Amino acid sequence: MINKLCIVGIGMIGGSLARALRVAGYAHEIVGYGRSVGNLQQAVELGVIDRAEVSLTDAVRHVDMVVLAVPVSCMAEILGEVGPALADQAVVTDVGSVKGSVIAAARGALGKRFARFVPGHPLAGTEQSGVTASQADLFQGRRVILSPEPETDAAATASVRAMWEAAGAEVTMCSAVDHDRILAVSSHLPHMLAYCLMDMVVRHDDHREILECAAGGFRDVTRIAGSDPVMWRDICLANRDALLAALRQYHDDLGALATAIEKGDGKWLCETFTRARHTRAALNKKFDVQA
Ligand code: NAP
Repeated sequence: MINKLCIVGIGMIGGSLARALRVAGYAHEIVGYGRSVGNLQQAVELGVIDRAEVSLTDAVRHVDMVVLAVPVSCMAEILGEVGPALADQAVVTDVGSVKGSVIAAARGALGKRFARFVPGHPLAGTEQSGVTASQADLFQGRRVILSPEPETDAAATASVRAMWEAAGAEVTMCSAVDHDRILAVSSHLPHMLAYCLMDMVVRHDDHREILECAAGGFRDVTRIAGSDPVMWRDICLANRDALLAALRQYHDDLGALATAIEKGDGKWLCETFTRARHTRAALNKKFDVQA
């Protein structure tokens, strides 16, 4: 348990963390900071945070821990403002979907305080945004990756781990490079495919007819095209190299698929689909989802 926690950005992720930690009784006080007074007011009214602050430096002064839950493109600017206002022993962490760029921003902005910065990423979320989409049980049983750097203070990492465990999450460690490479394939690429497919369909002259015939499969594959475009623009730009590598591999695989169809190579198609089907079945089993 800690005394004061500040969450910068009371949106879907920041709001869900605040709710989970309030349920767990993890902090005496949870202070929220954001740009919009209306959103902050709503967060107080919904009981998500104890108190709202419209000054970032006032929000983070005298707190034990700061969680940055803003889009990755804002991290550098916010860290630059937060750093000088922090108490000596304060720990800073983030929830950004990309780790390399956030770590570079923190290293530049925090100077010697960088040792108290613990990069983090909860592998939980929905395609919705804002505090109204926050849920107290969002992180229950979900994984949170921490990516401490060699100079990260072990006690700071332990306190961020304890915070996420209080929120119900399972914490694992992974280097930033591996995190960004793995998430490029498991999360960032699927979002690109969903956006691309929706956009391709809408550019057809008869897209209304196509969408009227869209059944469960189309809806399943494109659900995440409902995600916030600004957040995903930021993720693309922040994880450029790893995402480009994943996109190029997928592009090559689509090329191989097109060739197989062109040549009438039913054996290749059946083998590829069978391999994919088995892998998907194993994933269903892992997450205890009905196939
Ligand atoms: P969100 O619901 O849109 O919330 C973002 C929050 O940041 C809002 O409360 C917004 O409030 C605030 N904000 C935006 N720009 C800001 C700025 N320049 N200065 C200060 N506050 C700012 O987004 P989210 O889904 O919670 O995502 C937040 C972070 O979590 C991102 O870094 C994302 O990569 C990461 N993440 C998202 C998911 C997911 O599934 N969505 C999963 C894991 C991690 P105001 O507009 O009032 O300032």
